[in-house]
Amino acid sequence: MEINLELVPKERRKPKPDPKTLGFGRYFTDHMFIMDYDRDRGWHNPRICPYQPLVLDPAAIVLHYAQTIFEGLKAYLGVDGRVRLFRPKDNMARMNRSARRMVMPEINETFALEALIELVRLEREWIPSERGASLYIRPTMIGTQATLGVKPSCSYYYYVILSPVGAYYAEGFNPVKIYVTDRYVRAVPGGVGDVKTGGNYAASLMASEEAKAKGFTQVLWLDAKERRFVEEVGTMNIFFYFEDELVTPELTGSILPGITRDSVIKLARDWGIPVAERRISIEEVIEGIATGRLKECFGTGTAAVISPVGLLRYQDQEYVINGGQTGPLAQRLFNELTAYQYGEKEDPYGWIKIID
Ligand SMILES: *Cc1c(COP(=O)(O)O)cnc(C)c1O
Repeated sequence: MEINLELVPKERRKPKPDPKTLGFGRYFTDHMFIMDYDRDRGWHNPRICPYQPLVLDPAAIVLHYAQTIFEGLKAYLGVDGRVRLFRPKDNMARMNRSARRMVMPEINETFALEALIELVRLEREWIPSERGASLYIRPTMIGTQATLGVKPSCSYYYYVILSPVGAYYAEGFNPVKIYVTDRYVRAVPGGVGDVKTGGNYAASLMASEEAKAKGFTQVLWLDAKERRFVEEVGTMNIFFYFEDELVTPELTGSILPGITRDSVIKLARDWGIPVAERRISIEEVIEGIATGRLKECFGTGTAAVISPVGLLRYQDQEYVINGGQTGPLAQRLFNELTAYQYGEKEDPYGWIKIID
């Protein structure tokens, strides 16, 4: 498929925001990629066009029944001035996995990645150059059919928007305080917890707002059935570093299979650290903190890469981990992954795709 180009005239392009005040997802670039789907034509009319509002019927299925999926990845401007993506094929594959689960049409992964790269190249000047800052890439698919009947849509948009985002750790690593909820659950067995779909995040808002009001950064979710086994935290997977092994919850179907999670498992194993993907109860975590057997805890995800956890609150008790400080393993993983992303170190895994 040929991508049609409709560019914003140079003199009408937006001014670039101050790199110091970027935050997350507040600014968007001049252009977007979009293509349409209907049953007869399949995916068609792929185009790069000015960033603009979507035309949607008020009865569009996505607005009522949340038939929507998304991805999140970043473009990094390296120390050598080249632009890098981190494991973008994995994001495209996960998009299609999500599409199948949500009864949405699959995209051609090769074509969708080419289109994404063409858009990022066009918007190259929007990639912030500060270490830690990047251009966040948000591929999205929504059901657009106008009907109040509950069924899969027969028409869709697939689009990609770009947002320059600031360094997550402007003042160095900041271990976060996490609230363990046994009142709310994020995802249930047999549900869609392992899919990047809007409803999961809508369902999580109340618990995270309550946690924030109490001074915590995020919520740690337990399994829905027994409210005992750790699942994940906010928009990150979670790891526990015990004296003898690094443990992360196994992918039971209600946990999002993070690409950063997979990268951390591979790195740690290559560094000779035994890694277990298994069920881990909140009691085991707390006992590990009490006995000192638990050395570190950290979250993993595209936004922060590694997010050290300095404190857990569970059933009205607070538990400090590693003196509330960033541990050496979290630091080493962060340094290694960001060194690949910013081109400071050769990536031996083939994770980096240089796009210029
Ligand atoms: C996206 C996401 C993650 C992290 O996935 P990465 O591929 O590492 O960015 C973890 N949990 C949830 C719920 C997510 O949406």
